[in-house]
Amino acid sequence: MRLTRLFTLISAILALLVCGVQGRSLWSEWRQYQSAERGLQALQLVEASMRAAEKLSFERGPSNAVMGDGYPAAAAKQERLRSARNDTNNALRQLQQQLDQRDATAALDQALREARRNVDQLAAQPPDGRTPAQLNSAVERMYALVPLALDTVTAATHASEQAYPRITRLLVKSRLAVELREYAGRLGSTLTVPLATAQPLTREQQERLQFLRGRLEQLRQLIRMNSSEADQAQAVQAALARMDSDYFARGQQIISAVEQASSSPRASGAQRYGMDTAQFAQRYVPTMAPILAVRDALLQEAQLQAHREFQQARHELGWAMLNGAAILMVLVALLIIVRVRVVAPLLRATRAVVRLGNGDFTAPSRISRRKDEIGDMLRALATLRENSMERQRLEQERAHLIEELKTRADTDYLTGILNRRAFATAGNLRLRGAREKDESLAVILFDIDHFKSVNDCYGHDAGDQVLIRIAEVVRATLRDGEILARYGGEEFVVMPSYCGLEAARALAERLRVAIEQEPLTLSDGYILRVTASFGVAVAHGPHAALDDLFHSADLALYRAKSQGRNRVETQL
Ligand code: GH3
Ligand code: MG
Ligand code: MG
Repeated sequence: MRLTRLFTLISAILALLVCGVQGRSLWSEWRQYQSAERGLQALQLVEASMRAAEKLSFERGPSNAVMGDGYPAAAAKQERLRSARNDTNNALRQLQQQLDQRDATAALDQALREARRNVDQLAAQPPDGRTPAQLNSAVERMYALVPLALDTVTAATHASEQAYPRITRLLVKSRLAVELREYAGRLGSTLTVPLATAQPLTREQQERLQFLRGRLEQLRQLIRMNSSEADQAQAVQAALARMDSDYFARGQQIISAVEQASSSPRASGAQRYGMDTAQFAQRYVPTMAPILAVRDALLQEAQLQAHREFQQARHELGWAMLNGAAILMVLVALLIIVRVRVVAPLLRATRAVVRLGNGDFTAPSRISRRKDEIGDMLRALATLRENSMERQRLEQERAHLIEELKTRADTDYLTGILNRRAFATAGNLRLRGAREKDESLAVILFDIDHFKSVNDCYGHDAGDQVLIRIAEVVRATLRDGEILARYGGEEFVVMPSYCGLEAARALAERLRVAIEQEPLTLSDGYILRVTASFGVAVAHGPHAALDDLFHSADLALYRAKSQGRNRVETQL
């Protein structure tokens, strides 16, 4: 796999992994934040539900007062009932507003309407017409309302408990406080009928009082039980102390006094209790207020805790987001740095090395100024390129020199035509060809006549010029494939293509005429004419040898000299 593709792949996998891990942690933080937010709303709902339950409990007092009064009931009592009902309605409306489902309190609304109608019906009758059973039924109906409201509390508490397990106990206790208030109310309500009718407490009512007292004590112990640090909160402790002194001391005393009056043989008739229902309520109801203060203190503590945890969740979410963004940014920066500073230069360097390997030095590699390892490598590469270029130049020079030496070794320094050594090589090659093709091979040997006198008369340089010119004239006369070489001194040799003795002799004759007729102009302007004598020999057959051929040609040349020069003689 190519490095770039591999790098892209690894980058993508790395980015996915980091995004996955970060996304997971962010998601969990977000979930926590959202549940904390929902929990806060649920807490408000808990509070609203508890207030509704409180108002419902409270409404029972004025209801009992109206039902226990004459007909029509005193205007002040009616007014208190109206105002209590208004309070209940407002609390229920607020609860309704906070609930998602519109019909969540439908059952409670229905039960409340019926309970109130019942109270109103009884209040609209003269006191004699209200039987204890009817009164009890009306009170029971009112009792039944609170559990309905508390059901909403339970559901809401459950939601906030999930968000804040740590404040569960506080919420449970605040609910217990609501229950405590409810039972305290019921304790008072138990006395409504005896007080209204000025009758002693029945056995059933006494047992009920005992039961309710036990329940109240139980709730009080549960609330007082230390279960978490939050219980130690000052506000909670103060509220509990007030509840003990106000309700469990004073409130219970009021109940006990009524109980005692009921069983006292001295008190009888309308003066049995020394107070009617309304007076009892007026004294007893205020002692229950600290119970609700306990509930509120617990709720407030719960809210404080919830708020703290919400802030914490928000804080942690913010950190998680920042952290995630920072890690992603670092990763991206790292990948960019690796790509720009390592992968890309490495690829460039690789291409440069490949080019160098192929002997291509065209693209000049910039000298890197980087101070890291990649910079070292790029600089080493540039040095390598320069060294390679130098080596190539030297190699070319050497090849050129070798070529030149080779040429010089084969070439006659004066005339530029082949020398005797090169001619022997070429001649042997051609002789082998002749043998293979069964052809004849001829040699024409010629020597300039009286050349010594040229040197003597015109000087050695002039002699050189004559030699150069003769070589030129002969070269110009020969065709391709006809080899010319300087045999030594003023002696030359020609090897025509494969041909017989007659054709070679004709060629020699043409050369002789060409030399004879060529006016040789010397550098000082003097024009000279020279002649040459030719000896021609031919070899044929499998045993033909170059030395024999030369020897025969030399003999023929010797004859040409001896027979008067400027002539062609063939082997005999
Ligand atoms: P012949 O007609 O019998 O060949 O007479 P010749 O004078 O040409 O014969 P000879 O062999 O006596 O003389 C050859 C001369 O050629 C001798 C030598 O000084 C001269 N010579 C040989 N090589 C060179 C050369 O390279 N340059 C010059 N200028 N002269 C050379
Ligand atoms: Mg000679
Ligand atoms: Mg000569």
